[in-house]
Amino acid sequence: VTAKDIGKGKAEPGQFEAGQAVPRLEVKGLSRSFAGRAVVQDVALSVAPGQVTCLLGPSGCGKSTTLRMIAGVETTDAGEIWIDGQRMAGPGLHLPPERRGIGMMFQDFALFPHLTVAQNVSFGLSGPSAAKAARVRDLLERVGLASFASKHPHQLSGGEQQRIALARALAPRPQVMLMDEPFSGLDNRLRDGIRDATLEILKEERTAVVLVTHEPDEAMRMADEIALMRGGRIVQSGAPYNIYNAPVDKAAAAFFSDIN
Ligand code: ADP
Ligand code: MG
Repeated sequence: VTAKDIGKGKAEPGQFEAGQAVPRLEVKGLSRSFAGRAVVQDVALSVAPGQVTCLLGPSGCGKSTTLRMIAGVETTDAGEIWIDGQRMAGPGLHLPPERRGIGMMFQDFALFPHLTVAQNVSFGLSGPSAAKAARVRDLLERVGLASFASKHPHQLSGGEQQRIALARALAPRPQVMLMDEPFSGLDNRLRDGIRDATLEILKEERTAVVLVTHEPDEAMRMADEIALMRGGRIVQSGAPYNIYNAPVDKAAAAFFSDIN
C-alpha cells in the first residue's frame, strides 16, 4: 500500500457505535510472566462492535499471549477482561473459553477432516436443526462456497479451507472474534481477496475483532485501530493513518518503513 491508500475505505476514528457506552471487549492492565520474565505488561484494549483492532508487532513481542489470555486458554497474572459488560477474568476469576462468547481463528485452522464442509460449520451450533441448517447455508453463501457443502476439507484449496474456518468460527455468532495471523499460511495471490471477504463478513456480523499480525501491511489494510506492541507493551495505538504518519519513535518508524 502507499500512504494514500492507508485507511482507504475505513471508518474514521470515533465512527463506531458512537452512542455505545459499553465496548464489546475491554481489557485493562493485562499482564503475564513466564518463569519470571514479563511477556505481556499492562495491556489495555477497547473494541466496539464491528471494529477491527490489530495487535501489531515483531515476533516475540507478546501478541499471541495477549490473545490467548483474552480467549481464556491462558491464565492472567493481573488485569481484567470484560466481554459485553461481563467480567471474564480478573483477580480470582478465570472463565473458560467456552463461556466467553468468543470465536477463534488461527493460522493452523484445522477443519475436521472426517466431516463435510457443512458439518464443520455446524459443529459448534446448538438448537433446532432447521435453524442450524439455515445458519450454515447463509454463512456458506456469504463466504462464496455454497456449492461446497457436502465436500470434505481435503477437496478444498487452502484459501477455501480458510473461508470455511471463518464460517465455522462465526456460526455461533460470537461477540468477539480473535484471530492470530490467520492469513499467513496463504499464498500472496489469495491473501488480499480473503482479507477483504473476511472483513466484509465480520463487519456485517458486527463482530468485535482482535487480529494479531506481525505484518504492518496487513494491519494497514484491515485495522480500524492499531495497537503497536513491543516487549510486551502497547507502545502506540490509534488509527492506521495516524500511526503510519506519526510513529511514536524511530523503532516504530523503522517497523513501518518496509511496507510495500
Ligand atoms: P508473539 O505472538 O508476539 O510472537 P508470544 O506471545 O507468542 O509472541 O510470545 C512472547 C514471549 O513469551 C516469547 O518470548 C515466547 O517465547 C514467550 N512465551 C510464550 N508462551 C510461553 C509459555 N507458555 N512458556 C514460556 N514462554 C512463553
Ligand atoms: Mg504469535
